[in-house]
Amino acid sequence: MKRDYYEVLGVGKTATEAEIKKAYRKLALKYHPDVSPDKGEAEEKFKEITEAYETLSNPSKRATYDRLGQSGFQQGASGTGFSDFGGFGSFSDIFETFFGGGGGFGESPFRTQTSTRPSGPQRGPDVAVDVQVSFEDSIFGTEVSVEVPRYERCEHCAGTGAEPGSDIKTCPSCGGRGEIQRAQNIFGAQLIRIETCSQCQGEGKVFETACKSCRGAARLRTTKTVSIKVPPGAYTGLHIRKPGEGSAGARGGLSGDFLVVVRVLPHPIFKREGDDIYSDLSISVSAAALGGQIEVPSVYGALKVDIPQGTQGGTTIRLRDKGAPSVHRRGRGDQYTTLIVEIPKNLTEREKVLFRELASLKGETIGRASRKAKVFSTVKDVFGAND
Ligand SMILES: [Zn+2]
Ligand SMILES: [Zn+2]
Repeated sequence: MKRDYYEVLGVGKTATEAEIKKAYRKLALKYHPDVSPDKGEAEEKFKEITEAYETLSNPSKRATYDRLGQSGFQQGASGTGFSDFGGFGSFSDIFETFFGGGGGFGESPFRTQTSTRPSGPQRGPDVAVDVQVSFEDSIFGTEVSVEVPRYERCEHCAGTGAEPGSDIKTCPSCGGRGEIQRAQNIFGAQLIRIETCSQCQGEGKVFETACKSCRGAARLRTTKTVSIKVPPGAYTGLHIRKPGEGSAGARGGLSGDFLVVVRVLPHPIFKREGDDIYSDLSISVSAAALGGQIEVPSVYGALKVDIPQGTQGGTTIRLRDKGAPSVHRRGRGDQYTTLIVEIPKNLTEREKVLFRELASLKGETIGRASRKAKVFSTVKDVFGAND
């Protein structure tokens, strides 16, 4: 008598569909006849686990099985067992389902291409490259030349792969079908594996003489210089697509696209955020105190800006429309410049006199070893500061 299906898969009676599937995958990979060293035993085992899985993964069959038990199920549902295996589709389909995409197993152990048999032209791949542009160029736009490695249609054979004048004949390997069937004996059943013909790549036709330039590949590996217009306002990460400038497709297929990804080099003064530009600007104490006109650098040149008397350090000036042009919209961003008030470090004698005068005007006592200075040096000693 057959073993209990739950036991076969090593799961509990309350196992979820996902748990059942997971258990089956694990066992199937272990006992798959193509990978297991002991073929005879593996086949038996594989048959058993597949049968168990086939029943338990189907909610209505599982309900019947739970109700009738192993023996009742076998009698009451003839044809539900292994003979119903065909309902799965081909053997390789099982592996597509379980070990194909997303299964974490990589490629299917069956390297057939039944569903994705390449036939006819294929679109070529996209080619992507980075281009670096200076900050200024990113603002005003520029044109750059890029060397692109890619496949190009072979002109010698006009993308056919055949030497001009060569006859086209039916592929001798597959007889024109483009695929080759291989019989495989699994579980005593004859299963057919279908593979793409390697001689004609599934075309069914071959040339009497392959093109001497591309050796029948219909395309050649080259590098091409492509000129790229970087639009004004380009930013790091901007994609510029040139349709049809990528690699030529196989068998005369359309070319893929050429993609340029912009990288903007950093600027010593300006930083960009969105379409706005940020910068810092140092101004003198007297300029901050007295106010008046100052010059603010921008990517469009120095701008004269009036600041009020008593401007504080950390004040941010907004310069409308002096940011980067917007690539996707109209208009430009703004520039935000933060003012830093510079305290002079090396005063001349004359400057010292003036600062003292300023201090005495405010009633401050500085210039000699005052109490405050003494306290300060004590604090420095305590914290071990050194300068
Ligand atoms: Zn050629
Ligand atoms: Zn062939």
